[in-house]
Amino acid sequence: MSSGIPSSWYNVVPDLPAPPPPPLHPGTRQPVGPDDLAPLFPMELIGQEVSTERYIAIPQEVLDVYRLWRPTPLIRARRLEKALGTPARIYYKYEGVSLAGSHKPNTAVPQAYYNAREGVRLLTTETGAGQWGSALAFACAQFDLECRIWMVRASYDQKPYRRSLMQVYGATVCPSPSTMTGAGSKVLADDPGSPGSLGIAISEAVEVAGANPDARYALGSVLNHVLMHQTVIGEEALAQLEEMPDLIIGCTGGGSNFAGLTFPFLREKLAGNLDVTLRAVEPEACPSFTRGVYAYDFGDAAGLTPLLKMHTLGHGFVPDPIHAGGLRYHGMSPLLSHMYELGLFEAVTRSQTECFEAGVRFARTEGIVPAPEPTHALAETIAEALRCRESGEEKVILTALCGHGHFDLAAYDRYLSGRMEDYPLPQERIDEALHSLPG
Ligand SMILES: *Cc1c(COP(=O)(O)O)cnc(C)c1O
Repeated sequence: MSSGIPSSWYNVVPDLPAPPPPPLHPGTRQPVGPDDLAPLFPMELIGQEVSTERYIAIPQEVLDVYRLWRPTPLIRARRLEKALGTPARIYYKYEGVSLAGSHKPNTAVPQAYYNAREGVRLLTTETGAGQWGSALAFACAQFDLECRIWMVRASYDQKPYRRSLMQVYGATVCPSPSTMTGAGSKVLADDPGSPGSLGIAISEAVEVAGANPDARYALGSVLNHVLMHQTVIGEEALAQLEEMPDLIIGCTGGGSNFAGLTFPFLREKLAGNLDVTLRAVEPEACPSFTRGVYAYDFGDAAGLTPLLKMHTLGHGFVPDPIHAGGLRYHGMSPLLSHMYELGLFEAVTRSQTECFEAGVRFARTEGIVPAPEPTHALAETIAEALRCRESGEEKVILTALCGHGHFDLAAYDRYLSGRMEDYPLPQERIDEALHSLPG
């Protein structure tokens, strides 16, 4: 640590009782090697993806950019505690102070840095709610890279200002599905009004990067190196907290903010230094941990990526258009999926309206308007604090407030005017989407 910023990222893999199953080549069903991944990622990140080192030093150039907003604040939510009348003590680690307003720049910056260092000229990516896109657009501007982003149609229409932010940072943004790629054209042919999904947008970005030798692809979540970059969150929190948490709660889309906050605490738990429960919260409309299956599936809708062993609803699953666009992903990080199978954390779901209710409550007490994604963590945190009010337990709860909702005020409008819907997910839709699993 120097000036409160960690000097290394923490890799949880060597501390696990068993390593996660490897990604497989869809043709040969053999583990993918560096050569298979080289068209998509720079060598340094491929190395980090399979690393068994516990710590990887953060390059000085990356630390220089991190310093623009890190360390991020760790705050005790005394006003929320008081409003709830709970004996629980609630802390939140706030990533909304970053330049893009979420935790995403923690990985966007090193990804852009390593690509630029290896001579890449163009990065392609997908974005759901726009947080990842704006983080990568910012990071590409730092290292003189061109940036092209496929934005999920539902968010493109709901969040025009996120798109403007990406454009201000210099990126090109297209709605997904688009007619610019084979994958997008195919979806549009079947369903011209498709709201899109992260899985479809990934197919488009991967297709374009794979066809251009000067281009690579960047992913904002799911992969091991992304989760590792996010551990700066948990390392800082460990150093900042005055008392150790009994429970840590975070929302999970692909799993990176949850992993980033929890992995350093899990390291201490596995070493016998700490007794802490970890709980992931996912949307009712896209419940990959709690209602998906643990199986090899594609990371994208068109089936262009390697096969990943993960909790999945099927790569053909298109989640309903909830406002938490960052949680609309059919799969889950393979590393977290493996750890869930090992029983290292719990998972629960929350509905959209109870999440916005929690978000408004948080805004009116603590003053921060949360992004729709972390309102899932807040809804669970508030429910737990109210359970403590009943039991009298003085539980210490740490929650991941991974972004602000300043670009999500249209969604808050819908909630406040009583026009927000819930999307309970019938079992038939899951069963149907699971038919798309590769045999
Ligand atoms: C992207 C995003 C998420 C979901 O991604 P994870 O990898 O699960 O963290 C959640 N919250 C915010 C604010 C995001 O930008």
